[in-house]
Amino acid sequence: MATRKSPQHSAAEWIPPRPTLNSLREAAADCKACDLWKLGTQTVFGEGRRRSIVMFIGEQPGNEEDLTGKPFVGPAGKLFDDALETVGIDRSQTYVTNVVKHFKWEPRGKRRIHKKPNAQEISACRPWLEAEIALVKPQVIVALGATAAQTLLGPKFRVTQQRGQFIESTLAPYVMATVHPSSILRAPDDESRRLEHRRFIDDLKKLAKVIE
Ligand code: SF4
Repeated sequence: MATRKSPQHSAAEWIPPRPTLNSLREAAADCKACDLWKLGTQTVFGEGRRRSIVMFIGEQPGNEEDLTGKPFVGPAGKLFDDALETVGIDRSQTYVTNVVKHFKWEPRGKRRIHKKPNAQEISACRPWLEAEIALVKPQVIVALGATAAQTLLGPKFRVTQQRGQFIESTLAPYVMATVHPSSILRAPDDESRRLEHRRFIDDLKKLAKVIE
């Protein structure tokens, strides 16, 4: 007997008519378009001002984001905030969000360890991100990490080779990718962490230059 594939859902079914950022956030709280709602504590929607000039897009919320309901607040969020301050960008003037709005994890002892979202989950969640981009209309989009970069710029995009470059895209006048701040924290030793941190700041400086 042929096995039946479960139907693929999309968050598009949850998008309200004539959405605003607030109505999107409220609707996303009830989203069940993929199974990740069963794993996460809550939906972690994007945060920031409508009409922010810059939108940062990461992969998915982490442990602390899942618990607080806010994007980029854990250790990687702290590194991100400090880096923005270093290059003179005020985070309150930006919009930060993720490709996937629920925390995907697996248990390791008592800890919840990040697990990469799969293509089906990314595709199911994409309408939320598209709606955020359509409402905020940022001048600059910065993808943080490979998952966000490949979701926005295609599966062939390589952050290792193309980071810090502005890429032609219909998404915004300026689109760039760099590493996710959590990858800097995972660097194997102090020296590589310092080096990665410096490269991250260099990428953000290019961004600061186009918005000054
Ligand atoms: S990860 Fe996205 S698509 Fe899946 S349930 Fe959460 S909000 Fe909906």
